[in-house]
Amino acid sequence: MSSPTIPHGAITPVLVTGASGYIAGWIIKYLLEEGYTVHATVRDPAKQASVGHLLKMAETAPGTLKLFKADLLDQGSFRAAMEGCGVVMHTASPFVLDGFTDANEALVRPAVEGTRNVLNSVNECPSVHRVVLTSSVAAVYGDNEDILAVPSGVFTEDHWNTTSTVDHNPYQYSKVAAEREAWKMQKEQQRWDMVTINPAMVYGPSLTSGSQSASIDTLVQLGDGRLRTGVPKLVLGVVDVREVARAHVLAAFNIAAKGRYILNAGELTMLDIAKILRQKYGKSYPFPTMEVPKFIVWAFGPLMGPITRDFVKRNVGHPLKFDNRRSRDLLGVTYRPIAETFIDHFQQVLDDGLVKKR
Ligand code: NAP
Repeated sequence: MSSPTIPHGAITPVLVTGASGYIAGWIIKYLLEEGYTVHATVRDPAKQASVGHLLKMAETAPGTLKLFKADLLDQGSFRAAMEGCGVVMHTASPFVLDGFTDANEALVRPAVEGTRNVLNSVNECPSVHRVVLTSSVAAVYGDNEDILAVPSGVFTEDHWNTTSTVDHNPYQYSKVAAEREAWKMQKEQQRWDMVTINPAMVYGPSLTSGSQSASIDTLVQLGDGRLRTGVPKLVLGVVDVREVARAHVLAAFNIAAKGRYILNAGELTMLDIAKILRQKYGKSYPFPTMEVPKFIVWAFGPLMGPITRDFVKRNVGHPLKFDNRRSRDLLGVTYRPIAETFIDHFQQVLDDGLVKKR
């Protein structure tokens, strides 16, 4: 990559919101390894499950970790952590697909009001010159069938999710609403610029066992037998958590970085993932071996989990394709082979005892 980067000596501390998270853990690891001072916000700095792994990595890394308490819905709570920071990486946002009754309260309000809260503090904090926002491909598209409206059949950074609502795909809606709000606030001023990282489904080893991220649960379900009877034919874009974290660091310090960057290593189905795992870990694990016909998923899926019939209709069996050229050519992201992502992730799930070793 030949793009100019900000020299190390000129670097001020970097704020990472949602530091306890799955993706944030890797971002902070890379920043500390490169010698940066990281101001890390969590809701509860005393909670070992949230910060234990971060404190441990800071013990041996050249960088410095400082923990701060902040909540997305507590106005002004990010201000103290931001003091003196040049870059703000805003990763905090709930990533849960079930276990709530009010989607607005669980997802949309923290995502949108939280983004506004963080960016209001950025507006007040003169040291900040760049915001790196963790958005998602969920801000690019809502359902797989949205691709039918794209003549090229490939989603790019020019596309926006216009089909999600608080009632249909509320997580996706929370992400597009938050990213739109962020761009609106960025355009209202000139001091700070913004880069968004828009990852597909993120997999790869987790540095924390405390995360609620939906990414981690999928691998556990594939390995513990809950999906033994079969999986829907659902095509996902996937990307390694280490590439997503690296992209945040590149986006923070590459002066030329601007706009949105889709992060996607490839598209595959749940059955493709199961095949990768079976090839490596053998038949003793109850990985699914077949796809469930769409009409059965439509009929019974909603009885077994958070998916709705509308979701099944608009997603199962539809193709999906992303253009990742901006991330490779302009940001400098190098994608590892997809199999490595899932093998490393499943190994971590086994080592952490989330799935019993056989
Ligand atoms: P995660 O492990 O669940 O991390 C989410 C973080 O958000 C947690 O650290 C959590 O902190 C924080 N958070 C949630 N509600 C909060 C609140 N009210 N106040 C302060 N912090 C709050 O999930 P992740 O997968 O790393 O996701 C990180 C970001 O990446 C999110 O913006 C997500 O939308 C985005 N993303 C994820 C994926 C994926 O496949 N994983 C794909 C695309 C985009 P606590 O510890 O305090 O709960």
